[in-house]
Amino acid sequence: MVVFYLVCSLKDWELRFCRANNLDEALDWLSEWGENGCLLAGGTDVMMQYRRGEISPGALIHIEGIEALSLITADARTHVGALATHSRLAADADIRSRHVALASAARLVGGWQTQATGTVGGNICNASPAADLAPPLLIADAHVTLASKGGERRLPLEEFFVDRRTTARRPDELLTAIDLEPLPLGGGERYLKLGRRRAMDVAIVGLAVRLSLGRDNTIEAARVAACSVAATPRRVPDAEAALLGARMEEGAFADAGRALVAAVTPIDDGRGTASYRRRVLPGLLEQAVMQCGEEIRR
Ligand SMILES: Cc1cc2nc3c(=O)[nH]c(=O)nc-3n(C[C@H](O)[C@H](O)[C@H](O)COP(=O)(O)OP(=O)(O)OC[C@H]3O[C@@H](n4cnc5c(N)ncnc54)[C@H](O)[C@@H]3O)c2cc1C
Repeated sequence: MVVFYLVCSLKDWELRFCRANNLDEALDWLSEWGENGCLLAGGTDVMMQYRRGEISPGALIHIEGIEALSLITADARTHVGALATHSRLAADADIRSRHVALASAARLVGGWQTQATGTVGGNICNASPAADLAPPLLIADAHVTLASKGGERRLPLEEFFVDRRTTARRPDELLTAIDLEPLPLGGGERYLKLGRRRAMDVAIVGLAVRLSLGRDNTIEAARVAACSVAATPRRVPDAEAALLGARMEEGAFADAGRALVAAVTPIDDGRGTASYRRRVLPGLLEQAVMQCGEEIRR
């Protein structure tokens, strides 16, 4: 035990802490430290990983204080700063009206302490297969903006997620913002999270659905995205296609349920088995679709 604490203290002693007051300072630090620099936003993932010895950066580049990166604004699309916290997302009027699924996903992340500190940028850049915000962002056609000293680039969130814990972010890049397509007029969306407890636990399965209905009460447009069922959170085009034209009544979504199960590649882990995850998906899809229907009719 004594040796453990000694090693930890020595490790801490060598670690540089760089507090960035603005984006330019953060990009300077990133360019200087390269792969050896680790961005620190809310720190809810980073500090756990550091303490567990999973990461050993030379420098922590603290960006939490960069106010400009936590703004949420709305025009034809919604622009969410990377440092917007889960609490902020859950409380923001534009997010609550234009991105119902995202607001409810933010309320389901961990407990209130994690929601007050953890950020949307950290949730995405950590690239956990179970990231709760990812499915609601994916059904909103999210694009991410990455900045470096060389300039900016924007890419679809789907392309940003490369593999488990791996993103398309280069070591000198910082995620500044995410832009989203709002829920169309008359549309409905839901995020359903199956977890072991209501709080403080990541999803066994997470599923987001966005729907628009035609006059005859059939599904005219559908987007479906899931987390915790593959190496990365993802859209499920086959399930979306199978929902099109389906009437809004219980039992009408069996084909979409089968398409969803066929598209995922879940694993067994401490929270659930792959077969359990496959078994619950069709029911979760039906529940989400029916709830979207209720929201649209309201
Ligand atoms: C008790 C507890 C419960 C939790 N429950 C959940 C849960 O239910 N659902 C869930 O999805 N997550 C959960 N988490 C994980 C975590 O809280 C979230 O992923 C959170 O959003 C991470 O944000 P952060 O600002 O704390 O990220 P940090 O820990 O600061 O960073 C996470 C990663 O992203 C990188 N990063 C951060 N910001 C940027 C940026 N702007 N540009 C580039 N890279 C960046 C960091 O370098 C690091 O690799 C939980 C964590 C804890 C400790």
